[in-house]
Amino acid sequence: MPSPATNGQPFRCDVLLHHLYGRGILRADMIRLAGITKSYRAGARVLPVLRHIDLHIATGELVAIMGSSGSGKSTLLNILGILDDYDDGLYELDGTPMRNLSERQAAIYRNQFLGFVFQSFNLLSLKSAVENIELPLQYRGVPRKLRREMAMDALSRVGLTARAEHLPSEMSGGEKQRVAIARAVVTKPRVVLADEPTGALDTKTSDQIMDLLQETNASGVTMVIVTHEPDVAARCQRVIRIRDGQIQDDSLSPLVDAPQVVVPT
Ligand code: ADP
Ligand code: MG
Repeated sequence: MPSPATNGQPFRCDVLLHHLYGRGILRADMIRLAGITKSYRAGARVLPVLRHIDLHIATGELVAIMGSSGSGKSTLLNILGILDDYDDGLYELDGTPMRNLSERQAAIYRNQFLGFVFQSFNLLSLKSAVENIELPLQYRGVPRKLRREMAMDALSRVGLTARAEHLPSEMSGGEKQRVAIARAVVTKPRVVLADEPTGALDTKTSDQIMDLLQETNASGVTMVIVTHEPDVAARCQRVIRIRDGQIQDDSLSPLVDAPQVVVPT
């Protein structure tokens, strides 16, 4: 017999889920890790670096990963970025398993899904700011004129239009990181991965970089930030602590108004 609560219509779970996803009340996972394990081998010795990591990150989340030096944070981020392999487990990016990809397939996923920001900026030293930002568009085959327009637009969003023709050696650390963020977002990635993005910057500049990363996240980009700094983690919705290659703690920040996940009853 139909329930009165559904107005005489049979209850449709798919319709309810569609409604909840569509309104952003329930969100799909962008990243799913199950039992991710990785070791490094040095001769006969095996060094376990990640031990059975289970982790789900929903679309649009802003997540900090903290942990002492050598705990496996960069290894984890590099696996998420398809920059590094894992030995065992499952990694799904937007529902697609990332396993046994050829170099070419991995490069396509990286270019289409992911943006990267590193502590050391990783800009090409002989290229100007705008040329650095154009690079991922060039790999994608975007024509020269459109490439320049898109790169200039990204540069203006980080407030550096006046620095377009400058080489990295002619810019401050904060400016270089803003160029790196423009380069990371110019392809409109679904996920941005940042490894200690403020590690080489003073407090005031770090705050400005976090403003930009938070703005990027607010536009719907899923973001994972590895950091040592409590100030940076405090600006994320969720903080994951890693110790000896295992998740030690995973908690929502009480400071940020994180969207609620509603479980239908
Ligand atoms: P974190 O980013 O938390 O400081 P990493 O993920 O960089 O830690 O490193 C975790 C452990 O793995 C460290 O003990 C490090 O020395 C080791 N490690 C990282 N990369 C390699 C490598 N390419 N070969 C061997 N050992 C490595
Ligand atoms: Mg590291």
